[in-house]
Amino acid sequence: MPKLVSVTGIGTNGGTRWGAVSLPSVIEAVIFDYGGVFSSPLFRGIGKFEADMGYPAGGVLELLFGDKGYIGVEGWGHDGPVEPAIESREAVTHDWHRMEVGEITLEQWFAGVQERAPEVLGQPINMDAYLTFMAEMPVGVHWPVVHRARELLAAGVPIALLTNNVKEWGDHWRATFPVDELFKIVVDSCEVGTRKPDARIYLLTCEQLGVAPDASVFIDDNAENIAAARALGMETVHFGENPFTAVAELDAILDRRGVAPR
Ligand SMILES: [Mg+2]
Repeated sequence: MPKLVSVTGIGTNGGTRWGAVSLPSVIEAVIFDYGGVFSSPLFRGIGKFEADMGYPAGGVLELLFGDKGYIGVEGWGHDGPVEPAIESREAVTHDWHRMEVGEITLEQWFAGVQERAPEVLGQPINMDAYLTFMAEMPVGVHWPVVHRARELLAAGVPIALLTNNVKEWGDHWRATFPVDELFKIVVDSCEVGTRKPDARIYLLTCEQLGVAPDASVFIDDNAENIAAARALGMETVHFGENPFTAVAELDAILDRRGVAPR
């Protein structure tokens, strides 16, 4: 745990000025993603499932999410597709996006999945097999991240959860880790009607925390989400395979910038 610094005389608007020199402000808040950050990577074994079913490699992810860079998908979070152009970050172009911003229901999304399957997979999707795969998919918790979040909370450092998520899955994902104990501020795409990597959802989170974007650290496993945060001036930790590495990167930022408890 990095040492905490006094914030006396240091503003929240991007820097303390000494003459012509602008120094970065201390970190005043830490913002965490959920899938692939607090949870272990999702969709473990999807490649084997696709092969076993005779679907093309990556076909099921393409069918479900419109791309393979979905939050927390094993093997795709860290080395996923290249970042999109800034103007496409607000785009809600796939049913998955529409469900994440609360425009369509889970039932409507599933209907679309079945409708698009022959085009994407070359055959109808076997829903029984898919639902069995989903039910048996192991979802673990990255306990080093839970513990670090708890330490930050105990030290008085404001933290928030910023998640692209699905209304109908709320009870499930919230039961996987102590979200209510850790977070007073949870910004969920399906509740606020905008999703990462849209700048608006990051700014909304910062507003709820009462901090400027450049006084925050954002942790996510999705390259597009990280790129959007960096464009807003946030410090970022791009979560890879190892939670200890990510926590060490977070601590290095907090050590370099200093962190301000409230
Ligand atoms: Mg994620």
